[in-house]
Amino acid sequence: MAVSRHPAPASRRPSPDAAAPKPAPRPRSAAARLALATEIQRRLAEAYPDAHCELDHRNAFELAVATVLSAQCTDKRVNMVTPELFRRWPTPATLAEASLEEIEDVIRSTGFYRNKAKSIQGLARALVTDHGGEVPAAMDALVVLPGIGRKTANVVLGNAFGMNEGVVVDTHVARLSARFGLTRETDAVRIERALMPLFARETWAQLSHLLIWHGRRVCDARRPRCGDCLLNDICPSATL
Ligand code: SF4
Repeated sequence: MAVSRHPAPASRRPSPDAAAPKPAPRPRSAAARLALATEIQRRLAEAYPDAHCELDHRNAFELAVATVLSAQCTDKRVNMVTPELFRRWPTPATLAEASLEEIEDVIRSTGFYRNKAKSIQGLARALVTDHGGEVPAAMDALVVLPGIGRKTANVVLGNAFGMNEGVVVDTHVARLSARFGLTRETDAVRIERALMPLFARETWAQLSHLLIWHGRRVCDARRPRCGDCLLNDICPSATL
C-alpha cells in the first residue's frame, strides 16, 4: 500500500473534535494526499458497496424538496414526513398552490418548518414558472432556485440525474475531509474545490455517499470509533 501515515507523537496529535472539524496535519506533498485519498476511497468502497442517498425519493423534484428539508435534520426524520407531503402535493404545480400553513403542519417535525415551507413552495413555484414544472439538470439553473445551494444541487444532479458535477459537502464530508488532512479549508465550497482533484470525477457522487456513511456509522462527530475504524492505520486523526 503506497500510503504512509506520518503520525505525530501522541501528545501532539489532534484528537477528533465534535462540533467544528479540526484539520489534521496534511500529508506533506500533493502526491501523498492523492495516495491517501485514493486508499481511503478504495477501502470505503469495499466496506460500503451499497452506499447510497438515504433520502427517500422517486424523482428529482422529491429529492430536491427532501434535501431542502434535511437541513439541520436527520434523513430518517425527513423520510417520515415526505410520504404525506408528496401524497398531498405530488408535483411542483400542486405544491405551488398549497396553503403555506398546511405545508408547515406536514413538515413541522423537521425543524425550521416556517422557512422550509417557504423554501419548498418558492422552489415549486419557480419550477412551474421558469422550467415548465421540471427540475433542471444543470448546476447554474439549480443554484438560482429558492432554497437550493450548491450542496443541494450536487445531491440532485448526482442522484436524480447521474451527473458528477461536484462533490456534496455536508457536515460529515467536511468533518472527515478535515480529519483525513485532505484540506484545511472550512468553507463548503472551498472544501469541495480541494476534494475534486483528489478523486476521479466519475466517482464524485458515490464518494459523498461513502464519506457520509462512514461519518454516520464510525467517524462520529463527538465520538469517533477509531479503534473499530478500517482507516485507523492511515488516518492522521486516529486516536487509538
Ligand atoms: S481513524 Fe477512523 S474514526 Fe478515527 S478519526 Fe480517522 S476516520 Fe475517523
